[in-house]
Amino acid sequence: MSSPVSRPSSHVSPIVIVVGSYVQDHAWLTDRFPQTGETRRALGFNTGPGGKGFNQAVACARQDVATLFVGAIGNDHLGAIAQRFADEEELPCRWQVRDDVPTAASSIVIDRSGSNLIVVNLAANEHLDPAFVEAQADAFEGAAVLLLQLENNLDAIAAALALGARHALLRVLNPAPVHPALDAMLLAQCDLITPNETEFALLLERIAGEHIDAATLAARADTDLHLLARKLGVETVVITLGAHGCFVSHGEHERRGDTQAFYRLAPERVKTVDSTGAGDAFSGTLVAALVRFAGRPFREAVVHANRAAAMSTEIVGTAPAMPRFEAVSARFG
Ligand code: ATP
Repeated sequence: MSSPVSRPSSHVSPIVIVVGSYVQDHAWLTDRFPQTGETRRALGFNTGPGGKGFNQAVACARQDVATLFVGAIGNDHLGAIAQRFADEEELPCRWQVRDDVPTAASSIVIDRSGSNLIVVNLAANEHLDPAFVEAQADAFEGAAVLLLQLENNLDAIAAALALGARHALLRVLNPAPVHPALDAMLLAQCDLITPNETEFALLLERIAGEHIDAATLAARADTDLHLLARKLGVETVVITLGAHGCFVSHGEHERRGDTQAFYRLAPERVKTVDSTGAGDAFSGTLVAALVRFAGRPFREAVVHANRAAAMSTEIVGTAPAMPRFEAVSARFG
């Protein structure tokens, strides 16, 4: 039976609210991925906090922007670890602690190139109660940005979007992983989305019935990418292209201070060891930069996010790999 309990750990007024997932990551470093049926010796093992929502909240908070994380965990050992990590990070969180489902956990295998294979049991994240989300309305007063992902149940995400709309927050969705029931109506409630290549291709298929090859996306002409992005019906689409950087596409009515409707940013040169969580570093840092650089062109925030995301690939782990504002500034000026 479910017995949701709210344990607010802070009363700080947030500027960014992240409603999302918490996952305890377990990562194995290998020389290469095992084949089906093969057991490989790992070169190393690491466990730590993760989950797209929590990672993005940590990435945002490390940019010194007041951030609140709202999510669900089980009343268990991993849930206790989640709360301890949030306390150590000084990240204000409102947890729905559930007795009926466990805290989420993942297995990540990373090869020498920094590529990864991931299996995740989303557990408590898929049982985030929409009523629990609605009960956080007080936090939305005075906030500027709502950041969401798709590792929770869609009714909780829809509840968060409705609250965000009611309080006129900028609504940002990192559509990862693409939810089987995601539709154009939910997407249309977002001001900005940050899909990676695979998610962009899946969204195009789902929303516009357009079939494209995700693997060849980065090589397509910018005008092509822009026309495709426009089919999603979202004002601003930022496609993350992994080691190829990122691409920005604005709608006709909303350029967010940019002179160009669409453009591409080259990747920063870094020594990648683990790209897991790079997308989270990107989305979390982007919303923080939008707050920090308010009134300046959108492009400046994207440049900062592109840098922070690249830096996050130089450290193994997800949430702990998120770079701080000073570190990004010191590295790139
Ligand atoms: P994940 O699911 O592992 O969090 P993702 O697939 O959502 O990642 P990517 O598109 O791989 O996200 O990467 C996000 C951003 O991180 C890129 O847009 C880029 O800014 C940066 N990035 C990723 N890999 C590299 C790399 N090898 N070199 C430089 N920057 C990188």
